[in-house]
Amino acid sequence: MGVWGQGILVSLVGPCSALRGPSGHPLTMDDCIFCRIVAGEMATDFIREDTWTVAFRDLHPQAPSHVLVIPRQHVPSLWELDDGELAGRILSAAAAVARQEGLESGWRLIVNTRSDGGQEVDHLHLHVIGGRPLGPMLSSSRNAKGA
Ligand code: 5GP
Ligand code: ZN
Repeated sequence: MGVWGQGILVSLVGPCSALRGPSGHPLTMDDCIFCRIVAGEMATDFIREDTWTVAFRDLHPQAPSHVLVIPRQHVPSLWELDDGELAGRILSAAAAVARQEGLESGWRLIVNTRSDGGQEVDHLHLHVIGGRPLGPMLSSSRNAKGA
């Protein structure tokens, strides 16, 4: 059972009395664009949703199918994710999105994490990308030492 099914476990903790879910993360952050999308404040269409996650199309798609899967609760990045059940739910949701998008011939899951990882929105999100051959995993313009 996840955050939204465990209302009884949601408690008022911390100096700001932020509402936190069972894994200790705030349920929502006022200045987070993805929290606002979860709250329905941005008129973003969800292509899939469940108790733990929502999925919606990326504003700037990099491929014919480019969907973001995010937890409903505010987890800043994969670095902070220490809730194994939620991790599984998010991964399962990404696979369900890929099937829903018909990406049978292949797709890529990307989780940009923190600054060196290129993360721009500080609310954990999984990119489900497909619909064309995606080529090599990373640009070959830099080697492993960054030169
Ligand atoms: P990151 O670089 O953090 O891994 O990816 C953030 C992604 O969020 C980018 O691909 C960007 O296009 C997408 N994005 C940022 N703001 C919005 C928004 O308001 N709506 C949608 N649908 N996507 C957004
Ligand atoms: Zn957020």
